Amino acid sequence: MDDKPKSKDEIFKILDKYQQKDLFYSDGRILGSMCTESDAISKLAFNKFISSNLGDPGLFKGTKLIEDYTIKNIGSLLSIDNPYGHIVTGGTEANLMAMRAARNYARDYKNIDHAEVIVPKSSHFSFKKAEDIFNIKLINADMDNFKIDVNSLESKITENTIAIVAIAGTTELGLVDPIEEIADIAQKHDIFLHIDAAFGGFILPFLKESGYNFPHFDFSLEGVSSMTIDPHKMGLSTIPSGCILFRDKKYLEVMEVASPYLTKKSQSTIVGTRSGASAAATYAVMEYMGKEGYTKLALEAMEKTKVLKEGLLKIGYELVVEPELNIIAFNHPNIDTNSLAELLEEKNWSVSVSSYPKAIRIILMNHVTLDNINDFLNDLKIIANSV
Ligand SMILES: *Cc1c(COP(=O)(O)O)cnc(C)c1O
Repeated sequence: MDDKPKSKDEIFKILDKYQQKDLFYSDGRILGSMCTESDAISKLAFNKFISSNLGDPGLFKGTKLIEDYTIKNIGSLLSIDNPYGHIVTGGTEANLMAMRAARNYARDYKNIDHAEVIVPKSSHFSFKKAEDIFNIKLINADMDNFKIDVNSLESKITENTIAIVAIAGTTELGLVDPIEEIADIAQKHDIFLHIDAAFGGFILPFLKESGYNFPHFDFSLEGVSSMTIDPHKMGLSTIPSGCILFRDKKYLEVMEVASPYLTKKSQSTIVGTRSGASAAATYAVMEYMGKEGYTKLALEAMEKTKVLKEGLLKIGYELVVEPELNIIAFNHPNIDTNSLAELLEEKNWSVSVSSYPKAIRIILMNHVTLDNINDFLNDLKIIANSV
């Protein structure tokens, strides 16, 4: 740090220089991200509440009311009238809270000390962090075409099983696990069931209402104990905005730690000082979009997915699985996946490579236009013709 202060102009000249090295969603070249440009209204709301601290809610009573309202509002999307939860930094923190709640509950009420959690191989790597932080053991569910194999699920349950995790919109392929059957099994064995809808939570409800054929995946199933949903993905809110919802207050209570010097005497969240801005941003964008806005967004995303899918098949590429949401994973029969990713990188496309299975992974977010898709398909055609 320098002794002498710099001027605002000087500082922003430097910041601009750094920012020029970033990619921008608006360039239309970011095809492998689950995030997108946040809606303008969420940025305004974020800035307005940028200094408010939900970790000390007695000082920010209004912001706390915004968080409460937003939790209820998100709950209404996921078929629960009175959820308990928080606006957090993202899917990772939400999943960590779910795993901590399940572990503590099993420890306090069922005397389970060697906690095991059954997770599918398709689950997000945040569960590996939970395994490490909370000293739980992850048990892999068997898979059937990249979804949890329901038939073998019960065979994985032991006396140490504290939770089952199922995914509504997997990170790599956008698939929805057979959650109705899984919820029945969890309920039968009285095991905590966490649904990770970080990506799917802000698209599935709107597609379902528009007639898309998805199974029930939310709190409408009695066996579901908690859900993760990310406003900063399909919700168009600012980064960082995640959300954790619990069916029951007791799951927050088992995580309570005394917070003596603050206005509220206990905290269940992992972080202490936490952003009121994220809650305000999510409140604003949800009110601004309404069900109508999100439905339009969801249907447009699925239309773009269809255009990309049909374009890929026409020029000799193969999908690894039929897409269920706005995520497509594909390969070319004669090109190795990593080489294909490099060739696309050379043409200035930023794609992502999935690990299970290995494929080029494209997410049709709001910032990806039909023109971008056509340009992308043209480059893919040139690449296919050159091998
Ligand atoms: C993105 C994602 C996460 C992680 O969310 P972050 O906001 O990146 O922490 C967790 N689970 C699923 C299914 C996701 O798609």
